[in-house]
Amino acid sequence: MHSEDNDICDGCGKSALLQEMQGNEFCDSCSQLARIIKTEPQLLRKICTLTHSDPHGSAGGEQVCPAGASLELPDVLDAVRYRTRDRELNTWYVSVSELRGNPVEIFASTAFDRDHHLQSRISNLTTITRLVSLVLRHVFLGEVLTLEKTIKQLHRSSRQKNDLPDMLTRVLSRYARHPEKEADDLEEGEQVL
Ligand SMILES: [Zn+2]
Repeated sequence: MHSEDNDICDGCGKSALLQEMQGNEFCDSCSQLARIIKTEPQLLRKICTLTHSDPHGSAGGEQVCPAGASLELPDVLDAVRYRTRDRELNTWYVSVSELRGNPVEIFASTAFDRDHHLQSRISNLTTITRLVSLVLRHVFLGEVLTLEKTIKQLHRSSRQKNDLPDMLTRVLSRYARHPEKEADDLEEGEQVL
């Protein structure tokens, strides 16, 4: 459930070793900042006053962070695993993580992970489950959705160059604030859609 790889920070957009926090992935400084915003709003307000900065850029008096706007995803979740089969009778295992009876994440795996013919199907199913998990965390945990998060999940779903999620990553990255480097690989002719 904890990912620790070098990737794009949801906060500042820099490439860094990331820590997961409420469904977001933050670099070290952004996660420290987020922790203070969340746990010590008074301290934040005081520092803003001391440094004459207004976190809103507008009239003061408002809360910096809407308290309790979202639930935190705990480190340990109950999961239910379902065994199911597709139309070609391949067996798949679908795991649903639950929080208070609600599905908050969904994963799928197969016993035939190394089967070459299943690679593209696995990456497509991974794409679906990663995007559905993003939506579920939004619905049940109040996680904020962004284009960058959508692209990150697409990017991580890819297993081979030019598979479907990789293709979508490259196209959508052109619209992102922090384009994945793959966007550069898009050939000129492919720009016209
Ligand atoms: Zn950051």
